[in-house]
Amino acid sequence: MGDIFGEIFNNPTVELVRNLLILFGVVLHFSLVFWTARDASRRGAMSLFWGVVALTTGVAGWLIYLVVRPPELAADVRERDLEIRSKELELQKELESCPGCLQPVEKDFLICPYCMKKLRNPCIECSKPLKLNWNVCPYCKVKQ
Ligand SMILES: [Zn+2]
Ligand SMILES: [Zn+2]
Repeated sequence: MGDIFGEIFNNPTVELVRNLLILFGVVLHFSLVFWTARDASRRGAMSLFWGVVALTTGVAGWLIYLVVRPPELAADVRERDLEIRSKELELQKELESCPGCLQPVEKDFLICPYCMKKLRNPCIECSKPLKLNWNVCPYCKVKQ
C-alpha cells in the first residue's frame, strides 16, 4: 500500500501536475486579491482593507466582499449625481416663481395663472413676452 502511494508521488508526471496545481492556486489567489482590491477601490470601499482580507482568507474573504460590497460603482454614483444636478439646474432655468404668490410660472407667461399678477408685457412689435422693466425688445430691437 505504502509502496504504491510512494510510487505515485514520486512519479515525475504526478509531481509536475501537483506543482502546476499549486502554481495555479497561487495565481488564482493573487488575482482574487487583485480583483477584490480593484473592485473595492472602484466602488469607493476600503480597497486596502479588502485586499488584505482576500489575501489572508482567500475565497472566503472574497465571498464576504461580494456580499457586503457597495452595489454601485463610485463612478456611476458620481455620474448620476451630476446628471441630477444638471437636471435641477435646467428646471431652475426654465421655471421662475411668481413674485406675487411664489407659485412656479414659466418664462413666457404674461400673467400668473394662480394670482393673475402681470408678469410680462407682450412686445408691441413681435408680441414676445418681455420683462416689465425692459425698455426695448431684445428680439426685434423695438423700443417699448
Ligand atoms: Zn402669482
Ligand atoms: Zn419685439
